[in-house]
Amino acid sequence: MNTILLNILRQRGYRITPQRELILNAAMQSQAHVTAETIFERVQQHTQALNIATVYRTLDLLVTEGLFRRTDLGGGSMVYAPTEHGPHIHLVCYKCQQTLEAEYQLVANLTSEIQQRHHFSADLHHVSIFGLCANCQPSN
Ligand SMILES: [Zn+2]
Ligand SMILES: [Zn+2]
Repeated sequence: MNTILLNILRQRGYRITPQRELILNAAMQSQAHVTAETIFERVQQHTQALNIATVYRTLDLLVTEGLFRRTDLGGGSMVYAPTEHGPHIHLVCYKCQQTLEAEYQLVANLTSEIQQRHHFSADLHHVSIFGLCANCQPSN
């Protein structure tokens, strides 16, 4: 699976250094949301000769190339997920930090609306919407 991503990067003219390969492997390990800090810890099991700035730079590259998506799920760190994690929306409660999953379809129209009004190609395939969950809403 990560050989596919490595090949895509190679085709686009990126040099695949052993460091980039390690970072990509660590990022793909769990198929789900992962923070840069977790990736850094995984990579450190293989080499100490790599700093977290390199992890961030490589993740930026993967996001720019559309292979990963970066999302804020609250809690201070951005999470990264491979594009194949699939389109969905996370509803995150400010108060109790609970997250619910919602269908991408809910924001699909918003994408075309933004394109029409602002000529901006929005990527809403993996975004978070913050608010209050049912339990945390003040009862009337
Ligand atoms: Zn809540
Ligand atoms: Zn997700």
